Amino acid sequence: MTDTLFAKIIRREIPADIVYEDDDVLAFRDITPQAPVHVLFIPKTPIATLNDLTAADALGVGKLVLAAARYAKAQGFAEDGYRVVINCNRDGGQTVFHLHLHLLAGRAMRWPPG
Ligand code: AMP
Repeated sequence: MTDTLFAKIIRREIPADIVYEDDDVLAFRDITPQAPVHVLFIPKTPIATLNDLTAADALGVGKLVLAAARYAKAQGFAEDGYRVVINCNRDGGQTVFHLHLHLLAGRAMRWPPG
């Protein structure tokens, strides 16, 4: 997989507003927030899209989701609610090809999405 913007953020080659990090996951604020809280959770091991996941990635993806849910609780908006989104390829609106989970909170979300 080719190097991406997010790989550069992991290596601290470009700046980001990092809000959480552990051995497997990095989380930072989206540069173009779509809600009062908009944080991207990414695996430190790069995977381009959801289509590229294998069974070997199951634990890593679980850690990504768990990190987001724990962050929501720690920040105090878990009870009010939030939305988690993973975009895949063109029709999903994916623009950065390093798997990432959007955590959106701080306002009521519309459904269905546009
Ligand atoms: P997606 O469209 O699902 O691939 O999401 C990519 C997200 O990355 C978008 O919401 C962008 O606003 C966000 N983004 C792009 N560049 C940066 C950056 N340098 N720092 C933080 N977020 C970024």
